[in-house]
Amino acid sequence: MNCPFCSGKMLKHIRSNNLYWFCSDCRQELPIQNKQLRCVCLSAKSLTET
Ligand SMILES: [Zn+2]
Repeated sequence: MNCPFCSGKMLKHIRSNNLYWFCSDCRQELPIQNKQLRCVCLSAKSLTET
């Protein structure tokens, strides 16, 4: 996983039972969504491709 902000390497990070990606370069945190997000992304992608 690379940081979408600075392309740095992100580290997995757990806080309050939630998973985050944490970038040690720009110190951004991205919450890791459940797998539903991936399904939404995939269906959105196939929609735009057609
Ligand atoms: Zn970053």
